[in-house]
Amino acid sequence: MSAHRVVIAGGGVAGLEALIALRELAGDAVSITLLSPSREFTIRALSVQEPFAKPSARIYDVGAICADHGAELRHDALEAVHRETRTITTMSGEELVYDSLLVAIGARPSPAFPHVTTFRGVQDAEAMHGLLQDVEGGWSSSVAFVVPPGTTWPLPIYELALMTAERAEGLGLSPQITVVTPEHAPLGLFGEEASRRVDDQLSERGIIVRT
Ligand SMILES: Cc1cc2nc3c(=O)[nH]c(=O)nc-3n(C[C@H](O)[C@H](O)[C@H](O)COP(=O)(O)OP(=O)(O)OC[C@H]3O[C@@H](n4cnc5c(N)ncnc54)[C@H](O)[C@@H]3O)c2cc1C
Repeated sequence: MSAHRVVIAGGGVAGLEALIALRELAGDAVSITLLSPSREFTIRALSVQEPFAKPSARIYDVGAICADHGAELRHDALEAVHRETRTITTMSGEELVYDSLLVAIGARPSPAFPHVTTFRGVQDAEAMHGLLQDVEGGWSSSVAFVVPPGTTWPLPIYELALMTAERAEGLGLSPQITVVTPEHAPLGLFGEEASRRVDDQLSERGIIVRT
């Protein structure tokens, strides 16, 4: 019996976790092809450390992960899905046949407000570092960290606010730091207990929260 052909589009955490779990669960019953425009994978959560010159996120080789788990890597991207023929077209014009398809291409972050520093990950570390330098140099006496409305991942805003406050405190500075959020409570989606603890940490650092 030939192996069930699985195509995974996306080499982010979702695509790679799926690949690893699938190989573990299904063994040789599946053949896996991973479609990834990037040859590298980093944990985006750690990107908040970069502006503070803390250790940067480790870079993983997507090809090595595929090789370790018996998957074929196509350095390409998903262009179109054709359900009737169970095929996909890639950006380079190739056609791949699948029995099962997992689309894990993530979200496309975009700035929520004009004329502000937006933090989407490592690509914005330099801008955030500039903001930090303004605080360190006493050029900025107040900073608002704003969680945008709509679909968003609010955690980095709190991390950036707390780390900025910690850095300023270490330098004997006391800029007014405010977190503005549409959430009913800070990081409310993590539940009451977690939210209360975050709130405690924010107050300890003198950070004002406006919900
Ligand atoms: C600053 C920041 C901090 C975060 N901190 C945390 C945290 O502490 N904890 C937490 O749980 N989450 C955190 N998140 C959220 C977390 O990073 C995302 O939930 C996670 O990355 C989503 O994984 P994903 O694989 O679905 O998408 P992504 O990580 O976006 O990966 C999608 C992949 O698909 C690829 N791709 C895009 N288009 C195509 C295409 N057409 N064909 C093939 N591949 C394509 C991309 O190149 C990318 O490699 C944070 C996010 C940010 C931005």
